[in-house]
Amino acid sequence: MPAFEYAPAPESTAIVDVAPSYGLFIDGAWAEPAEGGTLKTVNPGTEEVLSEVSVAGPADVDRAVAAARRAQRTVWGPMPGRERAKYLYRIARILQERSRELAVLESLDNGKPIRESRDVDLPLVAAHFFYYAGWADKLPYAGFGPDPRPLGVAGQVIPWNFPLLMLAWKIAPALACGNTVVLKPAETTPLTALFFADVCVQAELPPGVVNILTGAGETGRLVVAHEDVDKVAFTGSTEVGKEIARTVAGTRKRLTLELGGKAANIVYDDAALDQAVEGVVNGIFFNQGHVCCAGSRLLVQESVAEEFLDRLKRRMGTLRVGDPLDKNTDVGAVNSAAQLGRIQELAAAGEAEGAHRWSPPCELPDRGFWFPPTIFTEVAQSHRIAREEIFGPVLSVLTFRTPDEAVTKANNTPYGLSAGVWTEKASRMLWTAQRLRAGVIWSNTFNKFDPASPFGGFKESGFGREGGRHGLEAYLDVAH
Ligand code: NAP
Ligand code: MG
Repeated sequence: MPAFEYAPAPESTAIVDVAPSYGLFIDGAWAEPAEGGTLKTVNPGTEEVLSEVSVAGPADVDRAVAAARRAQRTVWGPMPGRERAKYLYRIARILQERSRELAVLESLDNGKPIRESRDVDLPLVAAHFFYYAGWADKLPYAGFGPDPRPLGVAGQVIPWNFPLLMLAWKIAPALACGNTVVLKPAETTPLTALFFADVCVQAELPPGVVNILTGAGETGRLVVAHEDVDKVAFTGSTEVGKEIARTVAGTRKRLTLELGGKAANIVYDDAALDQAVEGVVNGIFFNQGHVCCAGSRLLVQESVAEEFLDRLKRRMGTLRVGDPLDKNTDVGAVNSAAQLGRIQELAAAGEAEGAHRWSPPCELPDRGFWFPPTIFTEVAQSHRIAREEIFGPVLSVLTFRTPDEAVTKANNTPYGLSAGVWTEKASRMLWTAQRLRAGVIWSNTFNKFDPASPFGGFKESGFGREGGRHGLEAYLDVAH
């Protein structure tokens, strides 16, 4: 038990004004859906309904794509890069000005701790727009030829784990390069995307440049399949990614996929153990483990495994699980009942297959969707919890004896999005990093993001890069 208890420190929700219902954002204005469907979005920490949003159908997707096409041809495409940049800078500044409102809204709709939405999501969202605003007038110098052209209309579909940040990763580079977009947020987290539409209005972005269509998977399918979309950008599960790849195959559409992961976090015996414990905790319990690049497999060298696990358990005992809006909360609510069900199912499979489950004592709230920080030891590589993405606060622990074994086990996965290496020796770090098949490799840190740094996967984690100069390539008509 901690020496003293924290008093509640809830962030006020008074700054956010959520409307009882929302329409679709098409051609710079709010519109009712042609067929009139709605769905509710809830606060996963309380199960209270926050608002009702519209479900976009075929006619709405048609209208949004037509608006995006018109805006791209007549306004946004022909506009000099330095003028587009002004809009992007304006959006970035408004996002900073409204960051407290948006952080509270993100925590309400998603369940993530306010500490994270306030200190990680929102600063990165603004940084992404600032960064790509800087590229808009420098595209001829980006290494893609003297006069790189936009692709046209981008259809973008994003998941629920970082709703506004994934929107920023999609919209900022697309707009900087002169494309217009039709974006579909996830069914359970549509609100910050709808508030972003309001930011676009505030920035006086020309109508049709950004269109936001809420809805479920079917709306995403319609956006992806629409014949007048030139580019599809998707972040989400590998399963849906494969379906999208099949839909797009044989068309002229360009495609980037950012999919799942099962990252190894490798701790060598010479690592600074307490620092590594912090990194492992951050790697898997940040954002309730709803992170595609989460360090969900700990590979710890056998000689230090026992001591490391002792320290890790002690640290896990100090994690505060509960009200996402409390400023002292470390682990918030699981995003949905469906996701909680998936986590519970995989955790049960871990026990059934013979792994040993441990969680620190922690009281979970009565209402809402909750899962305690959990580790599994005695995990075999064949276990489902070592192979499948759990996408929750669950760490699978494996051990190794030699660097070769660490690399072999780390690469023994269909995914390849990220990895972590903890060691005091630079030579060992570089030796390991060169052999890991993963898009991002962190050393003596984890889950660090920067708009200037490209991000993306190997193997079933997808293809294409977001962020950095590399991220421009996905939105330019670059000859290969
Ligand atoms: P998901 O089911 O694949 O959903 C992602 C988005 O696609 C949602 O907006 C979803 O709508 C929509 N969608 C569902 N079915 C579709 C279809 N047939 N055609 C087009 N769109 C469709 O994934 P999720 O469960 O929301 O997100 C978790 C997954 O995303 C994890 O596997 C995670 O690793 C991955 N992820 C990857 C990255 C990365 O950068 N690599 C980042 C974040 C998350 P609904 O919400 O209405 O279902
Ligand atoms: Mg919600």
